[in-house]
Amino acid sequence: MSTANSELQQRKDAATPRGVGVMCDFYAERALNAELWDVEGRRFIDFAAGIAVTNTGHRHPKIVAAIREQLDRFTHTAYQVVPYRSYVELAEKINARTPGKHAKKTAFFTTGAEAVENAVKIARAATGRPGVIAFTGAFHGRTMMGMALTGKVAPYKLGFGPFPPDVFHAPFPTPLHGVTTADSLKALEHLFKADIDPQRVAAIIFEPVQGEGGFYQAPAEFVRGLRALCDTHGMLLIADEVQTGFARTGKLFAMEHYDVVPDLMTIAKSLAGGVPLSGVTGRAEIMDAAAPGGLGGTYAGNPLAVAAAHAVLDIIDSEALCDRAAVLGERLKTTLKGLRAAVPQIADVRGPGAMIAVEFGKQGAAHEPDAAFTKRVQSRALERGLLLLVCGVHSNVIRFLFPLTIEDHVFDEAIAILEDVLKETASDVK
Ligand code: PMP
Repeated sequence: MSTANSELQQRKDAATPRGVGVMCDFYAERALNAELWDVEGRRFIDFAAGIAVTNTGHRHPKIVAAIREQLDRFTHTAYQVVPYRSYVELAEKINARTPGKHAKKTAFFTTGAEAVENAVKIARAATGRPGVIAFTGAFHGRTMMGMALTGKVAPYKLGFGPFPPDVFHAPFPTPLHGVTTADSLKALEHLFKADIDPQRVAAIIFEPVQGEGGFYQAPAEFVRGLRALCDTHGMLLIADEVQTGFARTGKLFAMEHYDVVPDLMTIAKSLAGGVPLSGVTGRAEIMDAAAPGGLGGTYAGNPLAVAAAHAVLDIIDSEALCDRAAVLGERLKTTLKGLRAAVPQIADVRGPGAMIAVEFGKQGAAHEPDAAFTKRVQSRALERGLLLLVCGVHSNVIRFLFPLTIEDHVFDEAIAILEDVLKETASDVK
């Protein structure tokens, strides 16, 4: 017998803190590929994918089988105590498939924030320097260093300081909002004059496509500029691919869109399709800078999660999900662009592969972010059974994170709902 959503909602409010902000007021019962059902039997099309985690869909049979097979052998030994083959084999696969032909090593962790923390630890150990530079609008997690690196105050940093020192922010290029690549690179040069000697900087960390920040893609010349600065000053370049990885952008990793190779990369989310797993991959000599025992964690590289990750890589290849991301993303972009006349609030439609976003501004003006309109679109879509996520520093961007394994007819159904909802919301405003 199912427990009603409203009863669970009351119990949740009494039993869990409001700091764990929850978007939906219904409770998950089960999910399959791109669909999810609540405890009252209502169906939703899941364009959130657990925040970019189920690129390979909910409960893909190959992932379920891999976890089940591992479940029958052992669930936990702590890799640092008794190691297992599957961890080593996954590291080999990730080393081979991440950008760059150089020798690489990979360490596994559990969450994206933990991967970021460890990338910074490794960069400091390798360079002997303290400083880290991140960007406005960036999101790197909810741990102390994750928050320090994150370039958005509310809600992530409110009341939680002080944060680790020697972290600095430069503006991320968003030409739509008047910040060019030249502006960003100039701001970095200024930062080296005003705030920190570049010889004291261990690393620059950036997202190839900012996730929580609004799906703004780093321009190629910006990424080249970062690489050049790092090479000049002996700093390391860290690409945070926690949200962009695993076929989302039409490539296995977003850095494949650039002719630049990062020194370190953080991965998580869709790596294990819903079982917590993250990693740091990088140049072998840099990865080896941390002393034995300095890296790891009780659950880091859990065998169930590692088994799932092997299945994820297999599915991405066997179902050609990079190509599928490009095809679905293009269809969505064409639909959204076609709606510009009917929905004048659309200020921009963007994104590589299936990492697509639509930004709303009053009268389509990007400099007048329309968070209220965005919220109405999201709520209306949810009423119609389509789960959408909002992002952006001004909460005026809807990001699309459907599983890349979504069936055509479910995708078509979602697109039809989206079209209706956008048109209806726009005509309300008129
Ligand atoms: N980095 C990026 C780019 C992210 O998008 C996120 C999560 N949204 C994180 C780090 C943190 O990951 P987690 O929530 O698993 O700690």
